[in-house]
Amino acid sequence: MIKLSNVSYQYDNSKTETLKDINLELERGEVLAIVGPSGGGKSTLLRVIAGLEKPKAGEMFLGSECIYGNGVFVKPEDRGIGMLFQDYALFPHMTVAKNIEYGLIGMKSRERKKRMKEVLELVNLAEYERRYPHELSGGQQQRIALARAIAPMPKILLLDEPFSNLDTFLLQSVREELFGIIRAIGITAIMVTHNPEDAKTQADRVIQIIDGIASESRYEQ
Ligand code: ADP
Ligand code: ADP
Repeated sequence: MIKLSNVSYQYDNSKTETLKDINLELERGEVLAIVGPSGGGKSTLLRVIAGLEKPKAGEMFLGSECIYGNGVFVKPEDRGIGMLFQDYALFPHMTVAKNIEYGLIGMKSRERKKRMKEVLELVNLAEYERRYPHELSGGQQQRIALARAIAPMPKILLLDEPFSNLDTFLLQSVREELFGIIRAIGITAIMVTHNPEDAKTQADRVIQIIDGIASESRYEQ
């Protein structure tokens, strides 16, 4: 479903490469967790996959489509990638319904409503359609953000543990909940998480990124 070959990335103001020769391949429906110390390059990798940053070298394929490499650079909005990042929080002035419909602008109004209701069912928040984000708990907000991200039927979903302001206990249960919903939908997903234990039990595969170098992660406990 997604394939990265020798992808490198360097921030303009950085002396060294932030991502070094990343190779990664995910099958359809597979869930990958990315762990590793802060500053290792996890978020940068997600941003590169999303098209928010342009790599220095390498190739990227999504399905059979080349999204980067050999002079090709597909724009983020044309990649068919769903994102759940901290910087893409819910719009506070819009109801839950409007937040979700926002990403479905190309659709006819009736289809948009139908899809909005469908994804709200998927995250078990059907009755919250008319509420505003601040009326929901942190965990519920995160489920709405997930509903918004999957509403346009993306080919792949990227999650960078958003709402890190949740307390540790809540974060753990919300993370489990998110993994559960992603499983139920069967969507291909890549999730950055700060809990290796959780990653090991919930994801199909875990990789770690340390100093921009990715490797299969093995946690023996
Ligand atoms: P992680 O998600 O694993 O914590 P990041 O991808 O956020 O790591 O960061 C990787 C490295 O890139 C860090 O050294 C960080 O300081 C640097 N970095 C992140 N964002 C920028 C930026 N916009 N400009 C320059 N350097 C950055
Ligand atoms: P069914 O088996 O009933 O056809 P699926 O298992 O294909 O349903 O999907 C269940 C729900 O998950 C559907 O309502 C659909 O909206 C949602 N879904 C499936 N694939 C994706 C995807 N790639 N992105 C977002 N939502 C999806």
